[in-house]
Amino acid sequence: MTQEKKSINKKLEEKLFYKKESSWTEYGPKNQKKIFDFAEKYKDFLGQCKTERLCINYAVSALEKKGFKEIEKCKSLKKGSKVYKDIKGKSLVAAIIGGTAEKISLVGSHVDSPRLDLKPNPLYQNAEVSLFQSHYYGGIKKFHWVNTPLELHGVAFTKDNKEVDIHLGGKPEDPKFIIPDLLPHLAKDQMKKEAAKIIEGEDLNIICGHIPVNDPDIKDKVKFNVLKYLNDEYGLIEEDFICAELEFVPAQQPVDIGFDRAIIAGYGQDDRVCAFTSLMAFLEVQNPVNTAVLYFSDKEETGSNGDTGAESFALLNFTEEILKLMEMDISPFRVLEKSRALSADVTGAMDPTFSSVNDPQNVSFLGKGVSIEKYGGGGGKYSTNDAHAEYMQFIRSLVMNHSIPWQTGENGKIDVGGGGTIAMLMSRYGMDCLDAGPCVLAMHSDCELTSKADVYSAFELYRAFFHN
Ligand code: MN
Ligand code: MN
Repeated sequence: MTQEKKSINKKLEEKLFYKKESSWTEYGPKNQKKIFDFAEKYKDFLGQCKTERLCINYAVSALEKKGFKEIEKCKSLKKGSKVYKDIKGKSLVAAIIGGTAEKISLVGSHVDSPRLDLKPNPLYQNAEVSLFQSHYYGGIKKFHWVNTPLELHGVAFTKDNKEVDIHLGGKPEDPKFIIPDLLPHLAKDQMKKEAAKIIEGEDLNIICGHIPVNDPDIKDKVKFNVLKYLNDEYGLIEEDFICAELEFVPAQQPVDIGFDRAIIAGYGQDDRVCAFTSLMAFLEVQNPVNTAVLYFSDKEETGSNGDTGAESFALLNFTEEILKLMEMDISPFRVLEKSRALSADVTGAMDPTFSSVNDPQNVSFLGKGVSIEKYGGGGGKYSTNDAHAEYMQFIRSLVMNHSIPWQTGENGKIDVGGGGTIAMLMSRYGMDCLDAGPCVLAMHSDCELTSKADVYSAFELYRAFFHN
C-alpha cells in the first residue's frame, strides 16, 4: 500500500469512526482557569447544601437576588417575568417567561441524596453512650456509613408549635456524630457475611452523647443529658422527634483529588451537581425564546413519590398558574405536551478497577464531557423514557453548535443492574425528554467523584438548552 493511499484511508477513518477525546484536550489549557473557578463555586455549594431543604433555601435566595418573585404574590405575568414556587421547602419550580409562553424548555434535576434519617422515636442509651436509631434513605451500601463522621441538619417542632432548625457538624469546630464499626479482631463472623449484611439497617445507630448525669434516681443517665442538651439548646422534648425531619449526612467537605486537582470528591453529587449547574445556567438566561423552567425535585432516590417528588403534579400546577396569570386561554397539558426537557441527572462512570460491570464501548468516562443518554432504566429498557432519535438529533445539534464536549453511554452492562431518573415522569406529559448530566465514580457512596471538565460541560449544555 502506498503512503498516499494510507493517508486517504486515515482521513476516511477519522470521518467514519465515532471517537471521543478527553474534554480536557477539547477545552485546551486556555479554558482551564474558567473550569477550575466554576468548580470552586460548585464545591462551596456542595459543602453548604447537604440536604434537599438546604438546596431549596440556596436556590430561593439566589433567585430572589436576581429579581425572581414568588408566583403566589404575582397578580399578572408577561414576557420576561421571573417567578418561582417553593414547594414545601423541598422542591422548587422557577420560570422566565419567554417569547413563546406556550412552549417550555425545562431542565429538571433532584436535590435529595441518600442519607440517614432518624426513626420517629430514635433516642436510647447502651454501653455508656447515647445513640440515635436511624432509617436509611435511598440506595446505599450500608457499610459506607460506619466510621465516617456525620453532620446533622433538619427541622423539628415543639409542642407549642415553635419551628426549630438544627444544623450541627458542618463547621470545622462543630462536634460530629458517628456509627462505629466492629473491630477486625472480633469480626470473624461479620466478615463471613455477604456485603449487604455486614452492616444491616438496624445496625445504623449513631453515637450522640456520652456523659451521664450524676443522679442515682435517673435510670438512663446519658440519654437524660442528651435530652437536657436538646431542651436547653432548642427547647425540644423526646416526643418532638415525632414531628421532626432530622437527617445525618457525611461531614466531609468537598475536596480536590489528584496532583492536578481535576476531580472533585464530595457527598451528594448525585444529583446536586446537576441542580447547581442548571441553577447557574438558569440565572444567566435572558430573553429566552421558549419559557425557561428550572425544576428541582425531591424523593428521586426513593422513587419520586409523594407531594414533593417528580410524580406529583408540581409542573402541571405551576404551568397552570403561569397561564392563568398571563390570561392565556390554553390548557397546561397542551403546553407541557409541546415542551422539551432535559432530565439533568448523573450516570455511572467507567470504573478503573471494577470495569467488568460496564460495556467499554457504551459507558461514560470521567472527563469526556456531559453524558447524554437516550435511556436509563434496566433490563429490557424498563422504567425509562427512551428518547426519540429526533430529539437526540436536536440535542446533538445543540452541543455541536455550541462546541460543548459530550459523550454517551449506558449505566452498566445489560442485566447487571440499572437505575431510574425523573425522565420518564416528565415525559408523561408528552414532552421530549432525555437524560443529560456528568458521570460519577463511586455513585451513591458517602464520597462521590466527578470531573471538573464534565461539571463545566453540563453547565454549558443547560445554558445552551435554556436559550434555544
Ligand atoms: Mn440521580
Ligand atoms: Mn441516585
